[in-house]
Amino acid sequence: MGGSLRRPFEAVDYAALMRAHPPPPEYFESEWLLGPEEIERRQLARLRERARQAFRVPFFRRRWDAAGFHPDRIRSLEDLWLAPAYTVEDIRKSVEASPPLGDYQGASLADAAREPLRIFMSGATTGAPRPTLYTQWDREVGALLTARALYLQGIRPGDVVVNAWAYSTHNGAFNFDEALHRWLSCVVITTGTGNVTSSRRQIELARDYRASAILTTGDYLLHLASVAQEMGLDPKRDLALRALPNVGDREKLEATFGLPCYRSYGFHEVQWVAIECPARAGLHVFEDAFIVQIVDPETGERLPDGEQGAICLTEIYKTGSPQFRYNIMDLSALHPRERCACGSWLRRMAPFAGRGDQMVKLRGVNVWPEAVGAIALDDPRLGSEWFVRAVRERDRDDMIVHVVTSRAEEHAAIAAAAEARLKERLGLRIRVEVAAPGALDAWTEIHSSPKPKRFRDERGGAR
Ligand SMILES: [Zn+2]
Repeated sequence: MGGSLRRPFEAVDYAALMRAHPPPPEYFESEWLLGPEEIERRQLARLRERARQAFRVPFFRRRWDAAGFHPDRIRSLEDLWLAPAYTVEDIRKSVEASPPLGDYQGASLADAAREPLRIFMSGATTGAPRPTLYTQWDREVGALLTARALYLQGIRPGDVVVNAWAYSTHNGAFNFDEALHRWLSCVVITTGTGNVTSSRRQIELARDYRASAILTTGDYLLHLASVAQEMGLDPKRDLALRALPNVGDREKLEATFGLPCYRSYGFHEVQWVAIECPARAGLHVFEDAFIVQIVDPETGERLPDGEQGAICLTEIYKTGSPQFRYNIMDLSALHPRERCACGSWLRRMAPFAGRGDQMVKLRGVNVWPEAVGAIALDDPRLGSEWFVRAVRERDRDDMIVHVVTSRAEEHAAIAAAAEARLKERLGLRIRVEVAAPGALDAWTEIHSSPKPKRFRDERGGAR
C-alpha cells in the first residue's frame, strides 16, 4: 500500500505546468503578447500530442477509424479539419451505451487510487447531464485559465471574493474557487446561491469584508444590488467591488456598479476559453489551451472568418478526458488574426450569440431566440428578464416572446412597440407578451440555475 499513490504535488510538475501555461499576472507580460508564428508553432506541437492521447480513448478511436482519420495526418493546424467533429448528442449516446461515464473519458475511476481525480457534470440545460473526469493537471490548468480571466476583469492577489455560485455537481463554483484560492491567492467566502446564504447576508459579507467581487450571474448580481438599496446601501459607494466578472445585462450592471463588465466564454468540460480585453473588440482565445473553429450549425461545414456559426472546440492543454473537435453548438464568429489595441495577437471571437440547436425556422427565416430576446428588450421601460417559446398554432410554427415591466398600465403599448421593432429588424411578425416582474422566474429558473433558461420548444413532434 501507499507506494503508488501520488499526492497533488507529486502528480503534477508545477514548474512545467507554469512554463506551458503561465498564470497571471506573468501571463499578461508573456504569452498574451506572443507573435502569430510563435502562437501557432506552439499550438501545433500541443495539438499533435493531444491527438495521440485522444486516439487511445475508445470514443475517439472508434469515430476516427470510421472516418479514416489518424493523428499522424496532423502536419499543420489546417489538418485539424480532417478529424471528425462530434456533438453533445454523441456524448449522450456514449453515456447511454456505457453508463455512467461513457467511453469518452481519458481517465477512469480506478485511476483515483494513483492520483487525485475530480468529477463534474454539465448543468444539463438541455438533456441528461454529461460527466467529465478531470486529472489533477486538468483541474490546475483549468483553474489557472479562469484565474487569468478574473485577473483581467480586475481581481487581484490578496482580495476577498464572495463566491455565490452553486456548489453542486456542476463545475462552475469549484472552478472559480480553485482559480481564486490556488492561482490568485484570494480569500474566498463560499456563500453559494441565495438559497444557501440569504441575499441580505451576501451583501453584509461583501460589505464587511470589503470584497472586490461577488461571483454569480449578472441577473443575481443586479438582484443583490436592489437588496443592498433596500438595506439603505449604495452599491457603488458602500461596497468595495472592483470587478464584474459576469455574463448578463452589461449596460445595467455597469450603470448599477460603476465598473466595466467584460464578456467571456467557457463551458463545463473545458472551463475558460476566451475573455474580452479592455479594448472590447472581441474575446481573446487562450490559444495555449484551445483551438476554436466555426462551423455551419446544420451541416458542420467550415465557415469563413466573420461568419456566425457553431463553435467547434479542441482543447490542447489536458492530460485526461479530451475534447477534440467538440461541436458545442454555441453560436459565435471568429475574427481574422490581427493585433488588438491591447497588444495581443491572440485570436478573437464574438460573444456568445445563442444556441445553434435552438434555431427556429419561421416562414423560411432562421431565427435564434437570443436575437429575438435582444430586439424585444431594446426598450428602457423593460426589465432584463425574457423568455421565448416556439409554438405551433393554426398549423404553422410561431414564436412568442415574453418580457417584463413594472409599468402595469403600459403593457399594451410596450408589446406593440416591441412587435414593431421585431417586424422591422427581422421582417417577421412575432408576438410579444408583457408581464409583471417575477412572472417568468419559474420558466427562466433565474434564482436556481447557473445558466438561466431562455427558450422552450412547445411544437411537439408535429413538424
Ligand atoms: Zn485585446
